[in-house]
Amino acid sequence: MEERTIFHRIRDKEIPSDIVFEDDEVLAFRDIHPKAPLHLLFIPKHFVASIADVTPETSFIPGMLIAKAQKFAKEKGIAGYRLTFHVGKEGGQEVMYLHLHFLSDQKLPS
Ligand code: 5GP
Repeated sequence: MEERTIFHRIRDKEIPSDIVFEDDEVLAFRDIHPKAPLHLLFIPKHFVASIADVTPETSFIPGMLIAKAQKFAKEKGIAGYRLTFHVGKEGGQEVMYLHLHFLSDQKLPS
């Protein structure tokens, strides 16, 4: 059985998070320790541990996360942002559930 991380528990709504976007494939929520005025995490509903673990079958997932983040930003009027994947412990990845960091100096419109 795959090891369950904190993001499994957020995905499965076992623990609360501040969700800003959800569809059948992706969940996006606010980072608990934001490193910018807006700091979101986009995760796929289908578990992959890291970019380092992507296979030919799951290689669409990083692009899908970027596409969802781009659409989200457009819809919210966020003109500029930074997208980051940390890969592996040595790359600064603490949570072994693939996620895309979305950081912006702009805040979400209320
Ligand atoms: P990593 O270093 O693995 O790329 O980033 C993991 C991110 O998840 C960190 O920025 C950290 O603040 C965030 N994080 C860790 N635990 C939680 C949590 O329980 N809830 C939320 N919303 N974010 C978390």
